[in-house]
Amino acid sequence: MESWGGYEPQVGEIRALRTFRIGPGGGLHPLFSDPPWCDGLNTARCLRAEGPGGAPRGHAAPDPDCTCGFYAYGSEGAAEEQQHARHVLATVACWGHVIAGTRGIRAEQARIEALWLSGAVPEPLVRLVRARYPSVAVYRDRAAMVADHPPTELDCYELSPTERPSRTRLWLWPVAAAAVVLGVLPTRWLGAAGGAGTVWLAAIGFFLVAAMVIGRRRSSGRAAQRDVFVCLAVVMWLVAPFAGPPGLILLRLPLVEVAFLGLVHWARTARAARQFPADIA
Ligand SMILES: [Zn+2]
Repeated sequence: MESWGGYEPQVGEIRALRTFRIGPGGGLHPLFSDPPWCDGLNTARCLRAEGPGGAPRGHAAPDPDCTCGFYAYGSEGAAEEQQHARHVLATVACWGHVIAGTRGIRAEQARIEALWLSGAVPEPLVRLVRARYPSVAVYRDRAAMVADHPPTELDCYELSPTERPSRTRLWLWPVAAAAVVLGVLPTRWLGAAGGAGTVWLAAIGFFLVAAMVIGRRRSSGRAAQRDVFVCLAVVMWLVAPFAGPPGLILLRLPLVEVAFLGLVHWARTARAARQFPADIA
């Protein structure tokens, strides 16, 4: 089953979680489109007016073969994949046509039911949000909001509503960093001839096994994919010197670029997530 499709629950309202950007006027804007949500009923429409070859699509949102519809996550853990959710998290009630996947749902109609705003959101902006969304229960305590307005648990979700992705893999980051450093140490530091090769081979084996073990568990979705990617990147980093100078140029250089770009993207998103009010085009 995919993240956002494959299952069409036949029940009434489904509650799920999502984040918003807060505009200068207190409007709640989606991360990837600019029009703010309304207080009360919101109805999704497909923005892809034309299909392949210019044929009109004209379908109601959401459509199983399209990406349209209102998105909401099934659990706090899944919602936190977006950094904005660390400061703004809403429980939305969804109904009409709903399509569910492993991470959350896409819905035709939705209403913001409750909203948690972290301490980073300034009080004057909170007042603007309250004035613009009088029907929404605004919380400054996140646990209280989730307890009062819990997301609906669907069988297709990977994580239960209040579950966070497995924390056990926090060990991965320092171990991966140590392996990266190991990969650039002068070989004579790692023992006599052949010593470095043995240490590297052991590390390569360790990260290959870790990638396979993490990849087989499908319980934490995107976090698991990212961790598998980190393991395989470390393997490539350590394998590169065995291929001589071409290995360093063709394997290590791209890894440094990807790591740098990833870091820049992460830092930009983190800054945008803490910006109140957000820049709305
Ligand atoms: Zn569509």
